Amino acid sequence: MVENEGRVALVTGGNRGIGAACAAALAAAGERVAVASRGGSAPEGMLGVTMDVADADSVDKAFGKIEAELGPVEIVVSNAGIVRDTLLATMSEEAFHDVIDTNLVGAYRVAKRATRPMMRLRRGRLIFISSVVASIGGPGQANYAASKAGLIGFARSLARELAPRNITANVVAPGPIRTDMTDALTEDQRAALTAAVPGKRMGDPQDVAALVAFLASPAAAYINGALIPVDGGLSMGH
Ligand code: NDP
Repeated sequence: MVENEGRVALVTGGNRGIGAACAAALAAAGERVAVASRGGSAPEGMLGVTMDVADADSVDKAFGKIEAELGPVEIVVSNAGIVRDTLLATMSEEAFHDVIDTNLVGAYRVAKRATRPMMRLRRGRLIFISSVVASIGGPGQANYAASKAGLIGFARSLARELAPRNITANVVAPGPIRTDMTDALTEDQRAALTAAVPGKRMGDPQDVAALVAFLASPAAAYINGALIPVDGGLSMGH
C-alpha cells in the first residue's frame, strides 16, 4: 500500500441519503471510500460492498473485502438505519426488535469488527449517526428513539475504552433531513417536523456530511465522546 494516498473510510448505508453525502465528503477530502449496503451498489470511484449490518457474518465478509482491496479501515461512519414507526399500542415485538437490531446492534457489529485492526494501527475514527429523537423522543418512534439513544451510551463507552489507542468515537444527531427516509412520511408529518425547527426548514444530507468529514479530519483529533446535533436548532444543543 502507498502511504499518503488517503485513509480508508467505510460508510454503512453509504449508497444513498445521508450516507452517500458522507461518502462524497470523505472522498472529496482525499480518503479512499468504501460504501456498504444490502444491495452493494456504490457511486463512481468508490468501492461498493454488500453488507447487512443485522448479520455478523455479512459484516465480517464485507470488512474482509475492503481490507483486501483498500487496506485496513481507519474511519467508520456507522450510518445504516431503518424506521418502523407506529404508536406503542400497535408496536409489535418484531418491529421493536428489528429496529434495535439494525440501528444499535448493527452499529455494535460494525464497530466490533472495525476496532481490532484499528487497535493494531493505533488510530481510528468511529462516527455514529444517531438522531435528534434520541434526546427529545418522537411519537410513534419508541423503538427508533431507543436505538438512537443507545448509540450515545455505546459510543461514549468506546470513547473511554479506545482513547488510549488513539481511536475516537463521536455521535452525530441529525434533525429532519431530506432523504428517502423522510420522503416516506406524509405531508402532515413533514410539516409537523419542519414546524418544530426554528428556521422552519429541513436540512440536506450535505449538512450532516460536513460535520462527519470534520470529525474524521486531523483537526478533530481531540473531540471524543461528543454528541453533536445537526438539526437547525430543533434540540437546542441537546
Ligand atoms: P435512507 O433510508 O435514505 O438510507 C438508509 C441507508 O441504510 C441505506 O443506504 C440502506 O441501504 C442502509 N441500510 C438499512 N438497513 C441496512 C442493513 N441492515 N444493512 C446495511 N445497510 C442498511 O436513510 P437516511 O439517509 O435518511 O438515514 C441515514 C441515517 O441517518 C439513518 O441511521 C437514520 O436513522 C439517520 N437519521 C436520518 C434522519 C433524516 O431525517 N433523514 C434524521 C436523523 C437520523 P439498503 O437499503 O440498500 O441496504
